Amino acid sequence: MSKFYIVATPIGNMGDITLRAIETLKSVDLILCEDTRETKKILDKYGINKPTMSYPSDDIVGKNSRQSNKFAKIFELLEEGKNLALVSDAGTPGISDPGAMLVSKIKTNLRHGVDVIPIPGPTALITALSASGLPIHEFTFLGFLPHKKGRKTLFKEISESKRTVVFYESPHRILKTLESLVKFCPKENQKKVCVARELTKIYEEFKIGNPAEILEYLNKNPEKQRGEFTVIVA
Ligand code: SAM
Repeated sequence: MSKFYIVATPIGNMGDITLRAIETLKSVDLILCEDTRETKKILDKYGINKPTMSYPSDDIVGKNSRQSNKFAKIFELLEEGKNLALVSDAGTPGISDPGAMLVSKIKTNLRHGVDVIPIPGPTALITALSASGLPIHEFTFLGFLPHKKGRKTLFKEISESKRTVVFYESPHRILKTLESLVKFCPKENQKKVCVARELTKIYEEFKIGNPAEILEYLNKNPEKQRGEFTVIVA
């Protein structure tokens, strides 16, 4: 039976890769990447010399012929008994990254079955939660918040949630999101926010405070508006 490995890769610090991930990437016939140029950096660092191919993203699986051909190729290789690995640009494939649809189709559509094997490793939401100091025994993960439709409802839900909420945010929208948190989380229902920025990288930072304090901090320090953000609201 062929094997299809879901391999987590670093979210910043190149040292954050498991021995098993390296062994797996060295052992497979083909590595499926979100962006082959991004994956090349980690393959070069660890002396992994294996063919790579970009894979159809969740949105367009089966929708255009070039992507359909890639999909057919992946199926063909697995039917031939080849072993493949799936990686995304950073962290765990499928977590706010393409790949989940591909895994689902492989698990349900292949005639001879494929062993789908996770190779766990970093993911930004867990990394952020673990060092936030906020209550994390129960939490809800929202991925990226919608830009328009449903955004207001979601902020209302976040403000009323008894559970810690964690989500991903881009540097272009971080101020807008904090403004919404200030607006939707009234003082009498005070929330604590942790903005985890540039995790595992040189400028890693955890900033904790109420929504208004964090907004003020970011407004006063424009250089802190850059990079990658994971936001926790408790
Ligand atoms: N698959 C990844 C994972 O397992 O965490 C997430 C991929 S998603 C496309 C990228 C988003 O994750 C970024 O926009 C940011 O919100 C969050 N993220 C990824 N790396 C991060 C880091 N080093 N520090 C803070 N947030 C990060």
